[in-house]
Amino acid sequence: MNQEFSKMIVRMIDLKREYELVRQDIERALRICFEHQRWILGEEVGQLEQTVANYLSIGHGVGTSSGTEALVLALRALAIARNGREFFEKDDEIITASFTFTATGDAILRSGATPVFVDIDPCTYTIDPQQIEDYLASSTKKRVVGIVPVHLYGQPCDMEAIMKIARAHDLFVVEDAAQAMGARWNGRRVGAWGTMGALSFFPTKNLGGYGDGGMVVTDDSVLAKMVRALLQHGGEDKYNAEHIGYNARLDTLQAAILLAKFSYLEERNEQRRKIAQLYSDQLNLIAGLTLPFSPPPAQHVYNQYTVRLDPGLRDKFQEYLKERDIETTIYYKKPLHAMKLFDHSITYGDLKQTEAAASSIVNIPLNPFLTENEIAYVIETIRQFFKG
Ligand SMILES: *Cc1c(COP(=O)(O)O)cnc(C)c1O
Repeated sequence: MNQEFSKMIVRMIDLKREYELVRQDIERALRICFEHQRWILGEEVGQLEQTVANYLSIGHGVGTSSGTEALVLALRALAIARNGREFFEKDDEIITASFTFTATGDAILRSGATPVFVDIDPCTYTIDPQQIEDYLASSTKKRVVGIVPVHLYGQPCDMEAIMKIARAHDLFVVEDAAQAMGARWNGRRVGAWGTMGALSFFPTKNLGGYGDGGMVVTDDSVLAKMVRALLQHGGEDKYNAEHIGYNARLDTLQAAILLAKFSYLEERNEQRRKIAQLYSDQLNLIAGLTLPFSPPPAQHVYNQYTVRLDPGLRDKFQEYLKERDIETTIYYKKPLHAMKLFDHSITYGDLKQTEAAASSIVNIPLNPFLTENEIAYVIETIRQFFKG
């Protein structure tokens, strides 16, 4: 193999490289915080909320301590505002995908409701709207209250189909947009389609902080106000609690860092899409390798570049790349319905596509800081694997 490819490690994510590029912006932003010393809900939090709301063209952003808390707070606010109860009840059902990160289902349980897992579309790995329809039509005594679609890997769900179903059945929609900040469906950014949206600023996300952080977004000012109350002990101020609240504020320091990094988000997402296109062009003709599928009106932001291969080859593929210093990951090997936590949740149908995806997908390195050389090396190594 080419000499220039020797001694390199191709990483899934490279925060140190990014830091070198944004160091001055970050240091300036932090210095301002050290001078003002307003650590709890300092002005940076409000500035970030406004910036993100403008970016999504939505009325309100409310910073939270993580993406998980954003989901919980959104669902709790809906339970209070729509049902007049602190929590949902066990027989309130919320439809979501099983092929997602634990937090999606966990947040539904924490809101008091029961998750209903329906199958995904095998091409996009996102929730299949037809399965939602089929579940809603399938039996008589159901109490579905909402849908939590997950924009997995940065790939937007079919939001028009989902919103149409939600309107027809009077359901709320809370978008889990943790992996998809900036992605669009038919021009409109994800997070801005549903009743509410949840974003995550976990370091590996497209806009990542230097620690945990998240945001709830919504056009509904009553729900925004409720989330704001819940994240600071459940009252208009913390000495007048009305609801069972949390301490789940977004940290001022994280907000300052995220504001500094926000200026680069579009550029970085563009770079992710460019690298994805390169991979897709160059790996296109390999028999036995399935590439991401994201036709318009989806605009994918590639938090992950996910390929699929024969389950019997997956370990060998990962091993082959690892021996050649190329990192890979699998999100997710175990779907939620297979976890003990969800033993009492509902699964609709056999979830065949979910199981198939979980046993055959691999994420290969895609981050905006990969060099041309690294990208070429990944492509060449994958070609070699399938030749051998
Ligand atoms: C990251 C993630 C979350 C949770 O976000 P945190 O900020 O880590 O709490 C929720 N859902 C999905 C799909 C995620 O990828």
